Amino acid sequence: MNLLFKEKFHEYVNNNETKEISNMIESIRAQYKDETWSSEYLENLGINSIYKGWIIELYDKNNNLVWGTLQHGILLSNKAIHYVNHNMENIKQFNENSKYNIKTYNIKDDNGNSIGKLEIGSYDPYYYDEDELNFLEEVNKIILLIIIVIVILSFILSLIISRNISKPIKKVSNISKSIANGEYDKNIEYESSIKEIDELVKSINYLSDKLGEQEILRKRLTTDISHELRTPLTCIKLHIDALIDGVWKPSQERLTSINEEVTRITNLVEELKNLAKYDSEKSKLNLSTFNLKNLILNIVFNNERKAFEKNIDIKFDVEDFDVYLDKEKITQLILNLLSNAIRYTENNGYIYIKAYRDKNSIKIHVKDNGIGISKDNLKHIFERFYRVDDSRSRDTGGIGVGLTISKSIVDLHKGKIYVKSEEGIGSEFIIELHNLN
Ligand code: ADP
Repeated sequence: MNLLFKEKFHEYVNNNETKEISNMIESIRAQYKDETWSSEYLENLGINSIYKGWIIELYDKNNNLVWGTLQHGILLSNKAIHYVNHNMENIKQFNENSKYNIKTYNIKDDNGNSIGKLEIGSYDPYYYDEDELNFLEEVNKIILLIIIVIVILSFILSLIISRNISKPIKKVSNISKSIANGEYDKNIEYESSIKEIDELVKSINYLSDKLGEQEILRKRLTTDISHELRTPLTCIKLHIDALIDGVWKPSQERLTSINEEVTRITNLVEELKNLAKYDSEKSKLNLSTFNLKNLILNIVFNNERKAFEKNIDIKFDVEDFDVYLDKEKITQLILNLLSNAIRYTENNGYIYIKAYRDKNSIKIHVKDNGIGISKDNLKHIFERFYRVDDSRSRDTGGIGVGLTISKSIVDLHKGKIYVKSEEGIGSEFIIELHNLN
């Protein structure tokens, strides 16, 4: 601010000086009578010049000195030198490199004949008179005052801002420690006017909620797995004990029953293995070109038996086209959706599978008129080990990882999976994929 102001002010003083010099020359021309100037005029000119910081010498056309501040105004000259020196002392704080300079101006009459010359000695590059110096001093005081006010204000402001930031961060840090100790029920109750802090608080609350939910799911899984294993194992043990004790004869029917229980355990272990596989192979895709219609028809044919048992009608409307995706994973994805549709559709229901190209995307719909999913449950069904109804799901066999795996397959393909569902009406899963070549 100071530099800018000094520069502008210097520019103003310079312009002023140029104007004043040309006025002075004009007045010297006007006062030129009988080839000379009146001594009264010259005296006045000298005094005025001193207050502008000028030591002048006026010569006639024959180059004889007519009037000079130092020669004619002896009294004045002492005053002048004292005045100029005094001002220069003050100016030094504005300009260290000031030097005394003499400039010469030729004076001509209206016909262009020389009538003399004027020499002006002054401190350059600039000289400030008393008023200008006072003005500069005032401005400097104001600038200093502004700086002090700004410093105080910024200090207060930074104190307020840092308090606003450090308070919630402290809270976040404390809650993070609690989360690390397994206390997921504590939420940070803090609303900040700073967007980033607000988001941090929300994310930590979200993280703690999610960890809490995962903890519940993990505990439920342990109970579920032990239950899932215990039920068929108890059943198998009862059967085998009865066979050993000779209570039952090893008939086809008994052995089939044992076999079914073994299949249940195998399926459960298979699902757990699948989940572990998708967790460890998260970023691997084995891409190839295959016909989507053939793939869907194969999956349907292989699972028709389960649908027949419940008299569920599987209808499909699948366009015949090739895709470039991970065949094994897409098979797993459609199989998961179809198994769920069969699993959660009552007897005599129907399932409708549709696949088509829509602009650049591939769309697959798996729709059923089964039991549907309530709004509250809908937002959780893609979560690991989440099941809408524990008892019913256990009867129907799932452990709540099918949709988690399905979603991670879709994510791996950078696609989207949506679900529309209404309790008692049915569900529709929609997948949107893009060829990855
Ligand atoms: P599960 O192995 O229990 O079937 P999923 O992850 O495949 O696990 O599905 C999670 C939950 O979503 C299921 O327990 C079920 O309650 C619900 N669900 C999934 N698909 C359907 C569907 N087609 N109709 C009704 N509910 C469904």
